[in-house]
Amino acid sequence: MKEKNYKSLDEFYKKKFGFKVCKVSLDAGFDCPNKDGSKGFGGCIFCNGSIGIGDKDLSLKEQFMQVKDTLYKKWPNAKFIPFLEANTNTYADVKELRKIYEELLDFDEVVGLCISTRCDAFTGEIYDLLEEINQKTYLSIELGLQSSFDETLKFLNRGHTVDEFTSCVRELRRRKIDVVVHVINGLPYETEEMMIETIKYVNSLNVQGIKFHMLFIEEGTALAELYDREHFTLLSQEEYVRILGKQLEMLDKAVVVHRLLSGPDNKKLIEPKWLVGKFKNLNYIEMFLRDHNIKQGQKK
Ligand code: SF4
Repeated sequence: MKEKNYKSLDEFYKKKFGFKVCKVSLDAGFDCPNKDGSKGFGGCIFCNGSIGIGDKDLSLKEQFMQVKDTLYKKWPNAKFIPFLEANTNTYADVKELRKIYEELLDFDEVVGLCISTRCDAFTGEIYDLLEEINQKTYLSIELGLQSSFDETLKFLNRGHTVDEFTSCVRELRRRKIDVVVHVINGLPYETEEMMIETIKYVNSLNVQGIKFHMLFIEEGTALAELYDREHFTLLSQEEYVRILGKQLEMLDKAVVVHRLLSGPDNKKLIEPKWLVGKFKNLNYIEMFLRDHNIKQGQKK
């Protein structure tokens, strides 16, 4: 396999654990405070309400075993990290959270835990619980940022500010917990310079990982209604990859790139159509980075 021009998750896991590790995406049935009214109503304008691939009608164990069996066929010696991906996975009473996290850590061949959540869904007790878990196993917390501009966060109905995000990351890092940040490129009315600025902000946070996403519009979202009315411009494949290249050049070399591009649900996708075909797009990105000799952190 050719060497990557960025620090990939696969490489990071191999160095950290010494063997193949796969994340298993699960849905524990949590809600989101940005949908149920405790922080906001309606959620982020791009949210399709069903992020994640776990089937919440199955128990966590059943979901885990289903995915694990499939992965085992390809990687018979792999170990696993359960990934609570759908909605806000710290949004519950701390006792309930402990029960769920400990259940997941008890599954066979598990070497860590990954929890996706919002920066405003923590209490002191929850931070304490996460710190305790982090002392026993490998824990990473995924936080949606999307943009480092408050006006964009407001437009997206994120329900939090950049300052709140910074405070949350500081608290997690103070407790030595790994943090992975999500950013979205191609948000309506954001310029290329703003997308690069977001990466500079990410560099300032001392986080351990990043996931890059291209904005896509899915049926049933507030964004789809807005697109219908305003027909704002979406990035082409070439534009996305060129901007991503610039962001990677700016990104701190120590940050692990968990994702270069997200894949939509093709059945619900309205635009951009070029996102259909995950592997075709990923190959295109890898080729672009190699052909243009773009290396992570070379312009930081
Ligand atoms: S925080 Fe996540 S789950 Fe909640 S509305 Fe936004 S994207 Fe959806």
